[in-house]
Amino acid sequence: MKQFKTESKRILDIMINSVYTHKEIFLRELISNASDALDKLYLKSLRENLGLTKGDFKITIETNAAARTVTISDNGIGMSAKALEENLGTIAKSGSLDFKKELAAEENKDDISIIGQFGVGFYSAFMLAEKVEVLSKEYGSEEANVWTSDGVNGFEIAKAAKDSFGSQITLFLKPDSEDNDYSEYLESYTIREIVKKYSDFVRYPIVLKTLEKPETEDGKVDENAKAEVKEETLNSMSPLWKKRKQDISEDDYNAFYKDTFFDYDAPVATIHTVAEGALNYKALLFIPSHAPYDYYSKTYKKGLKLYTGDILIAAEAEDLLPSYFGFVKGIVETETDLNVSRETVQQNRVLNKISENLAKKIKSELVNLQETDKDKYEKFFAAFGRGIKYGLYESYGQAREMLEELLIYKSVKDDKYVSFKDYIASAQENQKEIYYVSGKTVDGVKTLPQTEMLLNKGLDILLLTDDVDEFALKLLGKYADKEFKNVASADLDASSEEVGKKDLCAFIKDSLGGAVTEVKFTNALGAHPVALTSKGDLSVEMEKVLSAMPDSEAAGKAQKVLLINNTHSVATKLQSLYGNDNDALKEASQTLLTLANLIEGIPPKSPSEFAKTIAKLL
Ligand code: ADP
Repeated sequence: MKQFKTESKRILDIMINSVYTHKEIFLRELISNASDALDKLYLKSLRENLGLTKGDFKITIETNAAARTVTISDNGIGMSAKALEENLGTIAKSGSLDFKKELAAEENKDDISIIGQFGVGFYSAFMLAEKVEVLSKEYGSEEANVWTSDGVNGFEIAKAAKDSFGSQITLFLKPDSEDNDYSEYLESYTIREIVKKYSDFVRYPIVLKTLEKPETEDGKVDENAKAEVKEETLNSMSPLWKKRKQDISEDDYNAFYKDTFFDYDAPVATIHTVAEGALNYKALLFIPSHAPYDYYSKTYKKGLKLYTGDILIAAEAEDLLPSYFGFVKGIVETETDLNVSRETVQQNRVLNKISENLAKKIKSELVNLQETDKDKYEKFFAAFGRGIKYGLYESYGQAREMLEELLIYKSVKDDKYVSFKDYIASAQENQKEIYYVSGKTVDGVKTLPQTEMLLNKGLDILLLTDDVDEFALKLLGKYADKEFKNVASADLDASSEEVGKKDLCAFIKDSLGGAVTEVKFTNALGAHPVALTSKGDLSVEMEKVLSAMPDSEAAGKAQKVLLINNTHSVATKLQSLYGNDNDALKEASQTLLTLANLIEGIPPKSPSEFAKTIAKLL
């Protein structure tokens, strides 16, 4: 019995006792090794003219339920006794070594949490096997050897018989336990699923070999017949993104998208990009036409499939996408040596750079869609616009350059979607502001006092429908030196004529007991008796949003201004009550504030009291 090198022991120990849930990655690792072995022999054949062709190579998977074994074979380069000892007895240079380094660096961290981030290589077999056998014959050699180990007590190498060159790795599965159903790896469908998930684009066929009894004519299994060997190739082998763009039709792209990302609808846009030079990568990205049901919840997992060469490094490499583009699905394949080093995405400068480039590509594709196909863009924005707005908000406006051009809002004037650019293009010559109003529908806000006033002046207004909208615009502040302005903010009214009535205003403000910061009479309200506006940074709308949040106590209050229409009969009435019947004036002030609140969509504190008051007035 030979002993593992000490450095291997720790990793083996982690593998054997692993509670890591994605044990299935063992198959990815063993297939990856097999594929490497095939690559090596293929290269040797090319160099030495051995006459082997790519079609000669394959990887075979067999399961045996009775013996509880899973066997992965390849007809690749194989290993001599010496190679078996060196390669499998100690930590290999590459993937596992990084894993080891990481372990050393994070001695106190939960070991398990990092398994998934690395290709842990051959040793991952010990997550589910109590014994592993590697039967191997080096290409060109007459001699075969078998390496056997339980991962704990060292390993043995013995002479063995094997007809053909290559390696055959047999995993003897651990018994099932309460927490682990190892037997599932004996099922054909599990194997099929794992191969599809992690190794679909391996360039060699991965063949599942099963023993099945044939079916009788009526489609039932013929129990009396002898079982026959059935071979089924599990992987599709030819990655679409590796083909030339001109050879791929839109249907090809769409079918690939639907199959790979389990969507029933075609995407609204497809980005296929190939970068050569300092950054060497291919990416095939899709923008879905509708949001997954959980897109706006914590369970949604964003990320791109990341391949280096043919090996899937991460099924959802989340750092490749900024969160506001989390809806993008796709695949990135890099030629960078990640295959060997298998670093995490964050740690890799090349990947960071790639992710920056991809974000820019996504942005320009969306801008392009906005310009060329408004309907499609609106569909896209209806699905993912809210996330984009949150992106602006969460980044404190840092993501402005990426996102501001992507925003669209309904124009109150025309009831159709416009971007800021569109808005400015049709704005009035000296207009310094981009006006907005919060509400649900265009019709709903059209008759608001302040909106009406602006529309009458021929100005357009953007309709903000999401809670986050106004916060996002506040962070933006301006677009192309035009300031965003809430139509309900008080200084909007500065140009309109104000009417004195100082004492009356002070009295009304007092009777409202601090509910408003100011009371003003104005001639600018058209047919509306009252309106509510605000001063300062916090609008009435934002106050509503903030006060609905869990820690609403901490939320600020809008500084509200009650505007009273000086040309309306209510003004005359208030004036006549002042000094004559101050109690009635107090009550009238309350009622007017409630009305102004109602217009803003704020319900009365006591609807029944309010109903009584109105009835009394009638
Ligand atoms: P890595 O694949 O990251 O190098 P592994 O621990 O998975 O690390 O494998 C160690 C080494 O064993 C490989 O580098 C390779 O040389 C050898 N090896 C593993 N599997 C095979 C195989 N199926 N055929 C030939 N060599 C293999």
